[in-house]
Amino acid sequence: MQDAVSFDPRAVADLDVSLPQDEAHAPLEQLDAKGRREFNKLQKRLRRQVGNAIIDYGMIHEGDRVMVCLSGGKDSYTLLEILRNLQRNAPVNFSLVAVNLDQKQPGFPEHVLPEYLETTGIEYYILERDTYSVVKEKTPEGKTTCALCSRLRRGSLYGFAEEIGATKVALGHHREDILETLFLNMFYGGSLKAMPPKLLSDDGKNIVIRPLAYCREADIAEFARLMAFPIIPCNLCGSQPNLQRQVVKEMLAEWERKHPGRIESMFKAVSNVAPSQLADRELFDFEGLEAKQARLRDRRIDALNVAHDS
Ligand code: SF4
Repeated sequence: MQDAVSFDPRAVADLDVSLPQDEAHAPLEQLDAKGRREFNKLQKRLRRQVGNAIIDYGMIHEGDRVMVCLSGGKDSYTLLEILRNLQRNAPVNFSLVAVNLDQKQPGFPEHVLPEYLETTGIEYYILERDTYSVVKEKTPEGKTTCALCSRLRRGSLYGFAEEIGATKVALGHHREDILETLFLNMFYGGSLKAMPPKLLSDDGKNIVIRPLAYCREADIAEFARLMAFPIIPCNLCGSQPNLQRQVVKEMLAEWERKHPGRIESMFKAVSNVAPSQLADRELFDFEGLEAKQARLRDRRIDALNVAHDS
């Protein structure tokens, strides 16, 4: 039995957040004292939220080898940075390995991630798989390529995690990603499901974790900007952006503008489900309600008889 990580998120968040000299980044250097304080608060908040998610869902255990999937976007850079930070101060040992999948998209700047990762000193791999050609070949003209592309990417990364003995696969999805998926599934898939913070892959071989599950996208974007991560744009494949997701994203942003706190409330709802108040017969035994009613009635009669006899 492995020990769950027992981060104290407050203790971790309160640690000195000044960057080592060799990790100083230009936008940070330009901050005045107030800006620096704001940055420190932001970094502490992200650490605390990641620490809380790790504890709440038992994401990382003693001896885990966590493979962080690094796409070159703001989310995965932030994930890696915050996990590196927590790793330095966590009371249990776990290791990190960063993996980027080079999907051979035209114009992909191959040097960017290796150069960045060299500065971190962490173990890393660049995995080369030409999924781009496969996607182009298999997807009919005018159809969106993202579904097949994501499936191939997942397959490559999960398979590689096994090869290198990674016990966890960490992805950079955040709170808004989870809610967008919830609404996409409701609007277009007829199911009430989102993206879980922790899951076992369909073939049972990988445990996938999402340590940024509690983090706001806006915080991540600001953190990435201030850290000056060398972002690789995600439109190199030439695919149309996922319009349905974009619409849902804008809908959520609009709700939040009009009713501040709504996103937080909806996110709480995802972890506060009442199966008896929905209509899924697999989740709740509606057929058995009469039997339950009879049991409760018998119990009431027994209680009355006991009261009468005494
Ligand atoms: S945007 Fe391009 S790279 Fe990203 S999932 Fe879609 S097809 Fe793949």
